[in-house]
Amino acid sequence: MQLTEKIKIHPTEEQVDVLWTTSNFCRLTYNFALTERQEAWKKEQRSVKYEEQQNKLPEMKEKFPQYKMVYSKVLQGTLKKLDANYKSFFALRKNGDTSARPPAHRGKNYFFTIVYNQSGFKFKDGKITFSHKVNEVPLSFEIERDYENKNVKQVEIFNSDPYKARGDWYISVTYEYEPEVQYHDNGLYQAIDAGVTKMVTAVNSQGKFFEAKTARSDRYWNKKIDTAKSRRDHCKKGSKQWVRLNNNIKKMERKRSNQNKDYQHKLSKKMVENTRANTIIVGDLKVKKMAKSKKLKGKRKKGLNRSTQNQGFLSRFIGFLTYKAEKVGKKVIKIDESYTSKECYVCKKRHKMPLYQRTMSCDCGNTIDRDRNSAINIMERFLLQNALWTGYRYFADNLRQTGLKMGIEFLEPIPG
Ligand SMILES: [Zn+2]
Repeated sequence: MQLTEKIKIHPTEEQVDVLWTTSNFCRLTYNFALTERQEAWKKEQRSVKYEEQQNKLPEMKEKFPQYKMVYSKVLQGTLKKLDANYKSFFALRKNGDTSARPPAHRGKNYFFTIVYNQSGFKFKDGKITFSHKVNEVPLSFEIERDYENKNVKQVEIFNSDPYKARGDWYISVTYEYEPEVQYHDNGLYQAIDAGVTKMVTAVNSQGKFFEAKTARSDRYWNKKIDTAKSRRDHCKKGSKQWVRLNNNIKKMERKRSNQNKDYQHKLSKKMVENTRANTIIVGDLKVKKMAKSKKLKGKRKKGLNRSTQNQGFLSRFIGFLTYKAEKVGKKVIKIDESYTSKECYVCKKRHKMPLYQRTMSCDCGNTIDRDRNSAINIMERFLLQNALWTGYRYFADNLRQTGLKMGIEFLEPIPG
């Protein structure tokens, strides 16, 4: 599996100049390749592939020798980035996310992320050094972590606020990681329902629940950001006041995102460490159908945008959980979670469950917190789909002991 780590760097002024020069060539390459794709589509309804664009790089460098200042793989990395951006855009659209925007041209004040793929970087004595031919200034940075013996695939240099590079400087290192412990199914499971108000509700084979609320900071910032946005939208777009408020909003969004990320790192670590289960089951967020947002306006649209954004947060959380689990020989398995929040886990009757409804009360007599109901459903679905009868019986027995009953009585599979 691959892991990516983010490390702060402190470039000198001279180094920042080199970074800007390199970034600029990358940006121009990106814009150029983007135009080519757009034109080919407009004129010939033809989609241009990555390989085609990569093959044109030598020709471009002959025509514009200044591009030779950039390490050659970096320009390739830029084209790959464009390709990846297109792919993720199409994937989001396919998923029903109408707020997804196609890749756009980047202005000259935008610090374009520099991608070193496979080569052009070297780790030695606590330093990373990047190849370039801009001038004689070495692009070398001290880093605390040691990658000398690691199989590093890619390093990116970026700024946390790319517009005019006003934020902090970072590199992100992606490397191949071999877990020390190999996964084996130890017969213990944990099922997780990831949601909006409560970030996770988990139930394990012992029938015990674990709950964690969405980070407080999230709710705190959401409120502030909403207020600022409505103030901004009452100003004339582009006016001094508007720009000021808009910058403020961006700053707050960044803070929210950082605090969220920290929280998710801590929570996923805790969840992996605190369970004896080697197998963690989560609902596959991709399967969740998103409402069509075309006709939505105002509040409902905002609500949907927020839920799309939440979807992003949650899938990042699942990502954290997955690699933290793999590191210690555990495994995260995704299963289709359709109707897990709507079906009563006892009698399987489906209910309308709008988000504000926190409790499921079924006429079969089952009354339970909505997220706990989902978690049980996810666990049950996984065990049954995989014919894990022993695990199922163990889970059902334990639930019964905690006062909950399972709908399906356990049946011994008929031998032969
Ligand atoms: Zn029921």
